Amino acid sequence: MNEDPILHLEDLQIALHANGEEYPAIDGVNLQIGRGEVVGLVGESGCGKSLCALSVAGLLDGPLRVSGGRILFDGGDIARLPNRSMRMLRGSRIAMIFQEPMTALNPLMTIGDQIGEMFVLHRGMSRRAARRQAIEALEQVQVPAASRRVDDYPHQLSGGMRQRVMIAIALACDPDLLIADEATTALDVTIQAEIVELILDLCRARGTAVLMISHDLGLVARVCNRVAVMYAGHLVEEQPADRIFSSPQHPYTQGLVASLPRLGRRLVVGQAKLADIPGVVPQILDYGKGCRFAPRCAQAMDRCSTTAPGTTLLASGGKKRCYLNG
Ligand code: SF4
Repeated sequence: MNEDPILHLEDLQIALHANGEEYPAIDGVNLQIGRGEVVGLVGESGCGKSLCALSVAGLLDGPLRVSGGRILFDGGDIARLPNRSMRMLRGSRIAMIFQEPMTALNPLMTIGDQIGEMFVLHRGMSRRAARRQAIEALEQVQVPAASRRVDDYPHQLSGGMRQRVMIAIALACDPDLLIADEATTALDVTIQAEIVELILDLCRARGTAVLMISHDLGLVARVCNRVAVMYAGHLVEEQPADRIFSSPQHPYTQGLVASLPRLGRRLVVGQAKLADIPGVVPQILDYGKGCRFAPRCAQAMDRCSTTAPGTTLLASGGKKRCYLNG
């Protein structure tokens, strides 16, 4: 990365407060995203990917809090920004798209009003000008008959169209960073590909950096420049996307790669994966002192269960968190 990153998670710690104790939900995550770069964050459900995303967007709540480290956005630490400042940043410079647009959209407002609100709130436009911009934004996300659909309510649209509306809202103010959190998971496979392509095309044209969060390593490795892998609140590996596929270094990443269907091998929906990682991701309250992957790792050694490995740099320019040499 030649210039200052747009986002730098620096030793990020997020604590879960429960039973009068503080538990390390996210523990020492370091990740940089360059301006205009597309970075993937992968791992099974419960690994902490969404917690990292929510902390960047200032949306952590309840028992979860940033307890250490910094979230540097365009050089400034936003980890403890007051709510009002964070609200202004969110939507204008940092935007998010979630898995289920129906829960993010207001069912009682037309989609035109919801897109237009971004222009009124962040650009100070009049309602009339905001409506014109909303139609243009709908055209950019390829909603057909945009000048008519602008008055539709969310329930009148298909899942794919609703996700296009979410993209229009997210990109309305040309943010510097878009966080797409499982943005296509709920959609049909063919629509998924269209939506991913649309997000990437629009972000490339605007120079918007993308943090693409997904449990689908295949999708992420195809479209991202770099891929970071999370397991149980730790970032366990980060490499250029092609290296993650060709030379995964951490046993967890190796398991994820081995689980991907390959050409010439049939994956029957509903049956077990072709190769699988035994066991499940531990709960935050059950994290031990050693490597959190040890109970599932076929290569675990005695010290793995008692002492957590540090991060080592790889020749590829990436890094991993494991005792094994490779
Ligand atoms: Fe497996 Fe040990 Fe590496 Fe953890 S540190 S991934 S248990 S070999």
